[in-house]
Amino acid sequence: MEPLQVIILGSGSSIPTAERNHAAIWIRHGGQVLLWDCGEGTQQQIRRAGLTPTKIDHIFITHWHTDHFAGLPGLLQTLKLEQRSRPLFIYGPEAHHYVSLLQPIFWKETPFNIEVQNIDHLNSQESTILQQENFIVSAIPVKHSIPAAAYALQEKNRWNIELSLAHRQGLEAGPLLKKLKQKESIHYQGKEINISDIAHLTPGRKIVYSGDTAPCPAVEKIAAGAHLLIHEATFLKESSEQHSSAEEAALTAFKAGVQKLILTHYSRRYDQQDIENMEQTLAHKYDGLTISAARDIQEISLPGST
Ligand SMILES: [Zn+2]
Repeated sequence: MEPLQVIILGSGSSIPTAERNHAAIWIRHGGQVLLWDCGEGTQQQIRRAGLTPTKIDHIFITHWHTDHFAGLPGLLQTLKLEQRSRPLFIYGPEAHHYVSLLQPIFWKETPFNIEVQNIDHLNSQESTILQQENFIVSAIPVKHSIPAAAYALQEKNRWNIELSLAHRQGLEAGPLLKKLKQKESIHYQGKEINISDIAHLTPGRKIVYSGDTAPCPAVEKIAAGAHLLIHEATFLKESSEQHSSAEEAALTAFKAGVQKLILTHYSRRYDQQDIENMEQTLAHKYDGLTISAARDIQEISLPGST
């Protein structure tokens, strides 16, 4: 399995506090780095976490409220000054519109191409927006005051060949095994060999980020079976038309069969003790679901990882 690193860079909501910066999540899969949201101050959070901004290739904005995108102009300016040359990909609902508004003011020309992709917020379906060799990223519109999306990174399932089993079938490491891995079955020496005869399947991991949303079926759908759901919890208990409470986020995670829930995007009205109390209450209520409250510059371990 490729290394999969998830780091919460900011766990605050619309007004930051001394402890909680605006929203941003750093995800590294193998050699690729994705950023989910880029609130104000994200550059400094990246530095505090000991990470390198020029490694970022894909930036996914959940929606165009400043606590989720205001870090983008400064980050792009840095990438420009660092003479980055690889293309940069920016995704989001109405992304073309917002990038075209920001670009003439903030970064004008860049030594790298910026490829922008809109997330279809008028269609309620989940859609694949990025296909890579080992994972895909999909998006689904969610319920907020402006067009907004949730994102999921789903690793592809992998066949791991056991050479001892391959040898029993008369197969050696080489082109034939490669072909079997690709085609999942081959004819060899008068018999059919299936990949399941010589390999075991490692299911891909799935991580999901809700962005800002009131409870809605879309989040439950995109989070189905996720190993990790990072869900906003602007409030601890109160319901709202635009945001979720920690209680609501936990119920969504439970219904979606999520293994681990990380709550984030807390209103500044709550202190650490309020949040920890809620975390414990919910952990008792939803047995089997691991729940914890995000902190800034926190690496999240995935279920099953050591
Ligand atoms: Zn927000």
